[in-house]
Amino acid sequence: MNYILMGPPGAGKGTQAKKIVEKFGIVHLSTGDMLREAKKSDEVISKLLASGQLVPDEIVVNMVKKRLEKGDVKKGFLLDGFPRTVNQARELDKTLKSENMKIDAVFFIDVHFEEAVKRISGRRVCSCGASYRVDFIPPKVEGKCDACDSELIQRTDDKENVVRDRLDVYEKQTRPLIDYYKNMGLLVNIDGLKSESEVFEDIKKRIIEAK
Ligand code: AMP
Repeated sequence: MNYILMGPPGAGKGTQAKKIVEKFGIVHLSTGDMLREAKKSDEVISKLLASGQLVPDEIVVNMVKKRLEKGDVKKGFLLDGFPRTVNQARELDKTLKSENMKIDAVFFIDVHFEEAVKRISGRRVCSCGASYRVDFIPPKVEGKCDACDSELIQRTDDKENVVRDRLDVYEKQTRPLIDYYKNMGLLVNIDGLKSESEVFEDIKKRIIEAK
């Protein structure tokens, strides 16, 4: 059971990814999380993330290749935020082939531009991994995490001007992947405007049907 989760920033990929991996006992591979860890010791990556631009394919592809060599992925994995360019998708295909693995489905969660801007600019996160939306899922005490009481922060790349740049990057570089996976017969469209639990139910249903 190997899946890809795709969609514009703000589609709810991170939230859905957590639910999917927990439900199906597979490994969560988020290149965004890996890069946020890498930026702590890498100035170039840090600047790219803050600007909303993509990190060069070569860096991300190598990171994912190394991760796919670990034994735990054999129980199944969910790629979240990767691939983001057609070139990354081709490199992934080559890697999977050489490791005797394949992708079973690509879930594409779609939301329109303005909804994505609204969702991301209202997002606040905690270092413990919890995530809130000030307009929709606010914490009980403003600015504090319900789970661990730490200070909530806004990711630099969630500021509204950067969000618009990230969406622009998505339209130009990532959207072409929809056709790439449609042509391979792997694309599953998911309506991202539905509630969080409805989106999860839709994905879950498709995974169970395919098993
Ligand atoms: P995410 O958490 O998936 O929204 O990713 C946060 C940021 O990490 C993105 O805006 C990019 O700068 C970088 N990033 C994540 N995944 C990739 C990827 N597959 N290719 C290039 N850059 C990426």
